Amino acid sequence: MNKFAVFAVAVLLPVVSNAADCNVEVTSSDQMRFDKSSFIIRKSCSSVTLTLNNAGTFPKTVMGHNIVIVKKSDVESVSQTSMAAGPAAEYVKADDPRILAHTKMLGGGEKDTISVDTKKLNSGEEYVFFCSFPGHRALMSGSVVVNN
Ligand code: ZN
Repeated sequence: MNKFAVFAVAVLLPVVSNAADCNVEVTSSDQMRFDKSSFIIRKSCSSVTLTLNNAGTFPKTVMGHNIVIVKKSDVESVSQTSMAAGPAAEYVKADDPRILAHTKMLGGGEKDTISVDTKKLNSGEEYVFFCSFPGHRALMSGSVVVNN
């Protein structure tokens, strides 16, 4: 290994691994599924970049997908108020304090990236992510693990 290679490994590796730890990518499909049943939010990141890729083909009015993050204890009630917010609000009640983060509702081929403020999430608390499109939560939900 030459000097440059040693330097590159020492300097670049920590940056790469840190960036990966603070990024979460989830893909959704026309089969009403996320490709992950859980993901990790690290408190050591001041914010985590969360990207939802909708790899489906249907428009968002038919088969829309989003990610909504809430405490596990709030998921039933938030799911109901989100549905009641209706299609014009893309099934997310505006300024709902129980919603800790959410992406836009996406149609097929669309993508949204948001920043999740890790100060809003506590280690030791249980969180879930789900799609708030009516009827999707049963198949489209998973756990958010909060770690340091
Ligand atoms: Zn959905």
